[in-house]
Amino acid sequence: MDNNAFYFKKINDFLAFLELPLAKNDCFSSSFPIQVPFHYAKKIEKGNPLDPLLLQVLPLEDENIEKEGFTKDPVGDQNATQEPGILQKYNGRALVISTSACSIHCRFCFRKNFKYEPTTSLPSRLDKWLASHPDVSEIIFSGGDPFFTSPSFFEALTESALRHKSIKTIRFHSRLPVTEPKRLEQLLSILKCIPAQKNAVLVSHVNHAQELDEESKTIFNTLRESGFILLNQSVLLRGVNDTVEALSDLSHKLFSQGVLPYYLHQLDKAKGTSHFEVSDSKAICLLENTRTELPGYLVPKLVREIANEKSKTPLC
Ligand SMILES: *Cc1c(COP(=O)(O)O)cnc(C)c1O
Repeated sequence: MDNNAFYFKKINDFLAFLELPLAKNDCFSSSFPIQVPFHYAKKIEKGNPLDPLLLQVLPLEDENIEKEGFTKDPVGDQNATQEPGILQKYNGRALVISTSACSIHCRFCFRKNFKYEPTTSLPSRLDKWLASHPDVSEIIFSGGDPFFTSPSFFEALTESALRHKSIKTIRFHSRLPVTEPKRLEQLLSILKCIPAQKNAVLVSHVNHAQELDEESKTIFNTLRESGFILLNQSVLLRGVNDTVEALSDLSHKLFSQGVLPYYLHQLDKAKGTSHFEVSDSKAICLLENTRTELPGYLVPKLVREIANEKSKTPLC
């Protein structure tokens, strides 16, 4: 078996691998099934039910909790959709839902209920949309995970942004450097050509220092050497990274791999994620205390995304 392309898709296979007690109900009824790449599972400490990586991916009964304010479209994506797969909320930047697929199903995903559209025609539609929106100077490829696509589709999609003079910056939001770096390798030849043409930015999504490893270091190094600016965004998650120590360790480890912290997001209130919530007062206190431990350039901006606002909203 090629372990690099292997995903845990059954709760009890996953728990058995981790030497944890099996779940009574393996067919957890969720419209968002478990999916954990083997590469990520290897980084989870065996026998530890509170491992910070495990908590991000293990479906729990808590997902059935109905809490007021936790909805299917927490950040107003629907309202910001210009045309299927193209979202614009902020001046000068547009975000492309490159694919519905992702290597890993994070239980706190804010787009787990997003109404994804087929993407076959996305490259040509993006091309047309950009031609009629010369005020957009930055394209952000998101998803799903923009790197979780075939090389041919990825090339067509990036080409449709690269060919526009009005586009100055191409940005990718991805979790693949820590979930499936092998898969990213097949896109490197396409990615390496971007910095010669446009500003190139990768915003990785890493929530805990334990997610970073030698493979992520190699990928980040390659991209940095080819001219990419490397930033990271995290989500503040109860039980995962809601301590000064976890946040400081994450910043230091990111920096050791050439990546600067960018955003620390307050949880987007997607239905079924309330057990991850950290209160604003605790979040602000954590950040203030983290600030005293770190050089200024390693302190992320604590923000919340509020539907219909013109930027992310800083909390402190
Ligand atoms: C978060 C987000 C962006 C990026 O915002 P920055 O503050 O530039 O990082 C752009 N478009 C959408 C729709 C977003 O949700």
